[in-house]
Amino acid sequence: MAGDWAIECEDLHKWFGRFHVLRGISLRVRRGERVVICGPSGSGKSTLIRTINALEPFQRGRLVVDGIAVDADPRAIRAIRRQVGMVFQQFNLFPHLTVLDNVTLGPVWVRHMPRPQAQVLAMQLLERVGIAEQAHKYPGQLSGGQQQRVAIARALAMEPRIMLFDEPTSALDPEMIREVLDVMRDLARSGMTMLVVTHEMGFAREVADRIVFMDAGQVVEEAPPERFFAAPAYERTRAFLSKVL
Ligand code: ADP
Ligand code: MG
Repeated sequence: MAGDWAIECEDLHKWFGRFHVLRGISLRVRRGERVVICGPSGSGKSTLIRTINALEPFQRGRLVVDGIAVDADPRAIRAIRRQVGMVFQQFNLFPHLTVLDNVTLGPVWVRHMPRPQAQVLAMQLLERVGIAEQAHKYPGQLSGGQQQRVAIARALAMEPRIMLFDEPTSALDPEMIREVLDVMRDLARSGMTMLVVTHEMGFAREVADRIVFMDAGQVVEEAPPERFFAAPAYERTRAFLSKVL
């Protein structure tokens, strides 16, 4: 059984060709824990998140997600994708489908839920993220913040046990960042296990149990928010914080 850990990464290495992008990442996330990952652009944050969701292969180390070892076995990969919801910087909604259809797609096609039931679930989730009234519009008719909330609802429609976020507010105008962070705060309060790449340090301070700082493919520092902000141990973390705070 999976025990306490939602995600276990042990000495994970990944190369893109000859480029060593993940250089021995060890990171564990408990069930119900909220972990924020930050670090400079190019440090491997997106690659790590994508590897955890089995969207990218890795070459060395061990990765166990929700008790399932991530290896080349397609069954393991399918099982993991079903347990793990992912929200990207670019919302990746289907432009030719309505908001409602974007949210019901996964439940109907992957979980084989009857359409009427999927629609009830989708409407509940759209309600939860505050955009039920937009259900019959197309993504292009929505603001960026609204589209990102649809993307969160779509991920939740799979009833995942773990949610991964990769800079979910980086593509948004400042006035829309807040509405997306509010939804994420709400999700954190509900007890969801969350691994969030973000540079929103206010959110990190408030919501994270732990903050992980990555640089050049490694975890350089890992601490609860109070310690992370008050007394970062490493020069690279201090330099980064001086830029984002
Ligand atoms: P971050 O999300 O921290 O900005 P990424 O994980 O996107 O960093 O990228 C880490 C490094 O890997 C960067 O140098 C990037 O150029 C490189 N990289 C990312 N994706 C690929 C890819 N598909 N092929 C080759 N190099 C890549
Ligand atoms: Mg990235």
